[in-house]
Amino acid sequence: MHVLKNLKSHSLMKSSRRNFLQHSLLGTAGLGLGIASTSDVHAAPVPSAAEPELTQEIDVLVVGGGTAGVIAAIQAGRAGAKTLLVERGAQLGGAMTTGGVAFPGLFDAWGKQIIAGIGWELVKESVELDKGPMPDFSKVPQHHWQNQVFINQFLYVILAEEKCEQAGVQIAYHEFPQTVTKTETGWQVECIGFGTKRRVNCKQIIDCTGGAEVVGMLGFPRLREKERQPGSYLYMMGEAHDPGRNQIHRLYVYGAESTNSRTVTHANLTGRKSILEALRKKKGARLMHMQPETGFRESYRIDGETLITVNDYRSGKKFDDAICYAFYPVDLHTKSGVKPEPLKPGIVPTVPLRALIPKGSKNIIVAGRCVSSDRLANSGLRVQASCMGMGQAAGAVAALAAKAGSTPLEIPLKEIHDLLRKHGAIIPGDV
Ligand SMILES: Cc1cc2nc3c(=O)[nH]c(=O)nc-3n(C[C@H](O)[C@H](O)[C@H](O)COP(=O)(O)OP(=O)(O)OC[C@H]3O[C@@H](n4cnc5c(N)ncnc54)[C@H](O)[C@@H]3O)c2cc1C
Repeated sequence: MHVLKNLKSHSLMKSSRRNFLQHSLLGTAGLGLGIASTSDVHAAPVPSAAEPELTQEIDVLVVGGGTAGVIAAIQAGRAGAKTLLVERGAQLGGAMTTGGVAFPGLFDAWGKQIIAGIGWELVKESVELDKGPMPDFSKVPQHHWQNQVFINQFLYVILAEEKCEQAGVQIAYHEFPQTVTKTETGWQVECIGFGTKRRVNCKQIIDCTGGAEVVGMLGFPRLREKERQPGSYLYMMGEAHDPGRNQIHRLYVYGAESTNSRTVTHANLTGRKSILEALRKKKGARLMHMQPETGFRESYRIDGETLITVNDYRSGKKFDDAICYAFYPVDLHTKSGVKPEPLKPGIVPTVPLRALIPKGSKNIIVAGRCVSSDRLANSGLRVQASCMGMGQAAGAVAALAAKAGSTPLEIPLKEIHDLLRKHGAIIPGDV
């Protein structure tokens, strides 16, 4: 009935529009201007406001196609789960590509590789295809950043898309969840994009939004500091950006916050304004490159089944449910800059599965910088290789839980470890 009404009013609109165009045509013809034809004028019927245009039944929904989300989705897909990856932006990679921080670390600690698997595969392939330099992990560098890897941010995006496609992962750009409702078998998620309303019925959600946005929508508690670490806007002034070879210029964006479209807009406007100021001060210099978005260091973290403290991190606590290693100095940026505090020789922190599970939740897991941790532990845990390790673990757990019709914490740890090893990951204790 409603549809009929819509169609009727639609054809009325169409005929009056056609009349208008015919009048215009006569008018313009009289003026000697030519318009070929109006026969291809169509307007799509407007769907009812509440109804989705697309409905999908899937196993695993990954929200956020950034550093962790790409790896989580590929792992879930490779493990046989029907996987959809929803990303609010226009490309994969998040902070690595859209933010421009194409310098992942650290895959090694104390002369050994400690994070491998899908993240490493993607990084290695992008360096090889780009003929870039590769650090030698058998050598302990003088400074931690010497073993970070320069990657070509543009190439990384395309390779990530290719690997998603090969793993059977469907990508939905320019979309984000609007509502998430619990169902008997998992979740019903209403996603919205421009011109798209997608209903997703899924068994498991992996929240890789950076700031645990889906966890927040569901009302699970999240942690956030009164004052966040500054973000940074990346650009190149005076010299060209040589992707995969050089570090990009950057300036701090104080108060940068990735939580919603208003705060992201504010950070981007502030960052770009500062670049303009810098350009005007640097007489004769040209702006050669600018990323599309601010890089955000910190927003919400989940309050998980376990919280990793800085003591756990600094002492390299081996959690009994560890699913990957992490390695980086404690690295807190403040108004006066940053002074990384390296870990003591031989220390390699681990990430427990329970730090990826929102306290009291079922059928949802997170990966990335929103891992349940105190602020100082998070300042080291948030780096890209560790986010990739967490992403792969979350993808494996979600795929197993979807298959078993259970929730992540019910999956035996051995099954998770076996699946991860099968896909090239390193489990704490393996090296
Ligand atoms: C300036 C800066 C310098 C850094 N330097 C380094 C470094 O040198 N080396 C290093 O290893 N790490 C570095 N880091 C840290 C590291 O880059 C990030 O912590 C890490 O990449 C975060 O990964 P993530 O997957 O959690 O989030 P992101 O990579 O930010 O991905 C989140 C994704 O989710 C999407 N998203 C968000 N909300 C929604 C939604 N509601 N719906 C759909 N999609 C959504 C975003 O668009 C994004 O693509 C740096 C970070 C910054 C900001």
